[in-house]
Amino acid sequence: MSDYLKKAISFISGKARLIPSQRQITLVTIASIGLFHAMLLCLFAYFKVDLMMYVNIISVMIYLVSFVIVKKGGSVLACTRLCYAEVLTHVLLACIAVNFECGFQFYLMVLSTHSFYSAYVFRKEKKVHPFCYVLASVVLFVIIWLWTSVFDPLYRFEQPWAVDFFYILNFFTAVTACILFMSTFVLIIINMESLLTEKNEKLEELSVKDPLTGLVNRRSVEERHRLATLNMEHYAVIISDIDDFKMVNDTYGHDVGDLVLKAVADVFQESVREKDMVCRWGGEEILVFLPKCDAAMATVVANRVLNNVRLIHEHPVYGEIPPITMTFGVADSFESKSFREVVKKADARLYEGKSGGKNCVIAKPGYSGSVM
Ligand code: GH3
Ligand code: MG
Ligand code: MG
Repeated sequence: MSDYLKKAISFISGKARLIPSQRQITLVTIASIGLFHAMLLCLFAYFKVDLMMYVNIISVMIYLVSFVIVKKGGSVLACTRLCYAEVLTHVLLACIAVNFECGFQFYLMVLSTHSFYSAYVFRKEKKVHPFCYVLASVVLFVIIWLWTSVFDPLYRFEQPWAVDFFYILNFFTAVTACILFMSTFVLIIINMESLLTEKNEKLEELSVKDPLTGLVNRRSVEERHRLATLNMEHYAVIISDIDDFKMVNDTYGHDVGDLVLKAVADVFQESVREKDMVCRWGGEEILVFLPKCDAAMATVVANRVLNNVRLIHEHPVYGEIPPITMTFGVADSFESKSFREVVKKADARLYEGKSGGKNCVIAKPGYSGSVM
């Protein structure tokens, strides 16, 4: 029980990220209304209103049975309807027994409010039409009003303060119930909205990031390039490829190959500026987009990455991985206005490096990129 209480407090205070199930909310609601009827039973016994005492015995039993049904996995919708019928009957009989002035008709307002909440909760079943309950409440209100204006109440309280007591009790209980239902409704929506936002962010991340290396994909680089073009920024591109990676996979297995890829991606991220974008361009090809940068600076960066990649196998954090080298091609936006052309030039230099013996940086003519 204390666990339920803690969960309820953290939910009401907005701390809970967990959305309670409809069954849990219904159980708490049924238990609260059942206890309220038990209290009414005692009050009517005290005030000697026999009819309402018996009605409340039946009400308590209805809520007890509903609680057991819902707890055991029975239909929440059926129990909700049973409770609605109980509320309508209780209001009618209470007003006939002790008159309008006791304020039992306030519960028609609670029922109408709750029916909108139910319409949302059972929206998939499409079986709760809130306006039917609003209409039923209005019709019942008119019937009670007509009845009480024609007939005297069945019971007169001996205590003069009893009518005011019931009026105040019913008014505040009804207002509290409305507030609780509405705040539960709002909290469910807020919690669902934040869960949806989180899911969207995760999906967004998955759509731009490669799950193995954590590097962004081509689309992100193309978008970053568009931004650079809009801002008339110059940029450089480094395109790189792991040397003899097939052999790594064949000799050490695909898992070690994956580990190498992850380690190489980490080295890239650590060796470039924060504003540079490291992208998994293909299988074991990595492209770096360097905004506000030219080929000379990019060649320095590529050499730094190459040196760090060569040292990966010495790093204990990556475990047993073989020595790795890479080949790099560098180009910049001074060579061509088209991003495709710049990438194509960097790619051509990468393959020039591959055919020239690998493990090197090939920059645009005029820059000495090789560190062989
Ligand atoms: P070169 O020096 O000419 O680049 O030789 P290479 O063997 O690296 O070249 P190639 O492009 O023929 O081989 C690339 C290999 O990369 C083939 C493929 O199985 C492997 N590969 C691509 N993506 C992954 C991956 O996600 N994980 C692993 N383990 N291997 C991958
Ligand atoms: Mg390769
Ligand atoms: Mg390749």
